Amino acid sequence: MKVKSFKGGVHPEYNKHITGAKPIKVLPAPNLVVIPLSQHAGAPAEPLVKKGDSVLVGQEVGRSAGGISAAVHASVSGTVLQVEPRPSINGREVLSVVIENDGQDAKAPMTGHHDPIQLSSAEIRERIEAAGIVGLGGAAFPTAAKLNPPQGCRVEYLLINGSECEPYLTADQKLMEEYTEDVILGAKLLAKACGAEKIIIAIEANKPEALRKMRALAGSNAIEVVTLGVKYPAGGEKQLIKAVLDREVPSHGLPAQCGVLVHNVGTAWAVAKACRYGQPLIERVITVTGDGVKEPANYLVRIGTPIKDIIAAAGGFVGEPGKVIAGGPMMGLAQFNLDAPIVKGVSGILVLSDKVAKEFDPMPCIKCARCVDVCPVYLMPVTIEKFAMNAMWDEAEDYGAMDCIECGCCTYICPSKRGLLTWIRLAKTEIAEAHRRQTS
Ligand code: SF4
Ligand code: SF4
Repeated sequence: MKVKSFKGGVHPEYNKHITGAKPIKVLPAPNLVVIPLSQHAGAPAEPLVKKGDSVLVGQEVGRSAGGISAAVHASVSGTVLQVEPRPSINGREVLSVVIENDGQDAKAPMTGHHDPIQLSSAEIRERIEAAGIVGLGGAAFPTAAKLNPPQGCRVEYLLINGSECEPYLTADQKLMEEYTEDVILGAKLLAKACGAEKIIIAIEANKPEALRKMRALAGSNAIEVVTLGVKYPAGGEKQLIKAVLDREVPSHGLPAQCGVLVHNVGTAWAVAKACRYGQPLIERVITVTGDGVKEPANYLVRIGTPIKDIIAAAGGFVGEPGKVIAGGPMMGLAQFNLDAPIVKGVSGILVLSDKVAKEFDPMPCIKCARCVDVCPVYLMPVTIEKFAMNAMWDEAEDYGAMDCIECGCCTYICPSKRGLLTWIRLAKTEIAEAHRRQTS
């Protein structure tokens, strides 16, 4: 079997055995959901409801602000309690629609299509936009906008990213195993929407059952399934394109500039549901895992479910938790308020015990350069960290901070357990803010 890979990267403990064999369970809708109006890249959605309004499942409660933005929808039926700032997973308060569930699960009208592949490419894009679909792999970039590549770019390949290279997470794996047909349909719809000539689905070799099931259906649909070597971050867009097609995305450039669009398997699944059933993005599959939670599992959850409810459903904490992370251990965000809700781009909740979390306490740099060796985009993380710690944003930019794909390999490999990625993320935020000030 030919296995594809890329330069750089690391081999962390994957720990996927914890939930890899567990089927997806449906988590009952919570009593209250919190739907942030900003849970995607770009401009926040504009609220369409106010306190006291009744809403139905799938009803649009925030409309896309246009351009790079996405609509948001009610994931339960009930009454709007508030439209107000609420804690979010990125640590900030975000304007959110808070809905009390009436337990009726009364649905808004949804118009599907019995054979969605007959839809035109414009109709598919319209349905994707109306459904508020964003990249479910983490970046949460609005999918309809991504399907409109810059002028002059011809999309030859649609790459469906089934690598799920983050340790611990198995949500994409289970989607490919249990919803194979929907993922394939979604891939075909995405390809039609962007005019891609060929579809390739890339899956890491540590998911043999997902590979087997996807291959069994892909052949009859003229889709190629490739096996990726197990190395983190195989799922980074640039790394995936390099490994599968041996093409380089230019620095500050887009995959479309080298003829490729990349979409996650979860996004493909959401696209299939939007086109076949008219269902907006109101639920997703997540993995709840780690040594700090009693019953790790994969769950289908409503968007807006508070993290504390999900942990309670998974049996609660094992003793006192050391760290709760939204996402995986490499790229995830540490959580300090468990009232924050699950949003479209979150693929897991990782709970680490106090003992495991303590292993990440930082010490002084010993100048070993291991962070430089593993960086898949050839940066000098230790240098950018130093600039960021001294608020030297111009210098951080000169050293390529904006090219960082936030994979966390540098932090992982550092023997001194330094929080390199945290500092680089701060530098990126400050640099982007400075650019915004200059252009406004
Ligand atoms: S600097 Fe960025 S891209 Fe490089 S290893 Fe660190 S997190 Fe990954
Ligand atoms: S890996 Fe850690 S200790 Fe080594 S140079 Fe980078 S920051 Fe310093």
